[in-house]
Amino acid sequence: MIESRSTTLTGLVIVAAVTSFGLAACSAVSANQSDTSPPSGTPRGKSGGGSKLPGAADGKLPTGTSAFDTDLPGIANLDPKLRAAVQKAELAMKADGVPMQVTTGWRSKKYQIELMDKAIKQYGSREKARKFVADPDESHHVTGHAVDIGPTDADDWLIRKGNRFGLCQTYSNEIWHFELVTTPGGDCPPMTTPS
Ligand SMILES: [Zn+2]
Repeated sequence: MIESRSTTLTGLVIVAAVTSFGLAACSAVSANQSDTSPPSGTPRGKSGGGSKLPGAADGKLPTGTSAFDTDLPGIANLDPKLRAAVQKAELAMKADGVPMQVTTGWRSKKYQIELMDKAIKQYGSREKARKFVADPDESHHVTGHAVDIGPTDADDWLIRKGNRFGLCQTYSNEIWHFELVTTPGGDCPPMTTPS
């Protein structure tokens, strides 16, 4: 008994370590929204009167967003099959007592470009930035084929059970990023490790 318990604890410590590393990498870009200087591109005031960008129309999601919040563009513009899988997973997690939220779903290309621009400033070059932020032409969030899930307990649940719904972690350094890349109950393909 003690042995299995300590194994679990070790697992948690590893998850925590990976998480804090991963978050340091990603949220450094996505969470540092305090300097919301508008991008130099053409601001099309979708969010009502030229307010600061990115807004809900670009896919920015409020805290606590559910996969059922289909009135939000970030959820509405997801690939319908992916959205349905995440909804099923959300219900199953709820039944297990694990709260889940979608932190990023679909994201406009403009939003992704802004994230990339910030990352380039932060890391000094596009090459380095691409380790932390997908290129706007390559991001699966822009095409609606990826979701970022939180909090960590929900990520942990999805990593263990997401394949029941076809959902898999696809980047080894992003425990929160899931895509529909297997059939329900199938095996998840090997993860991509950014070089
Ligand atoms: Zn992601």
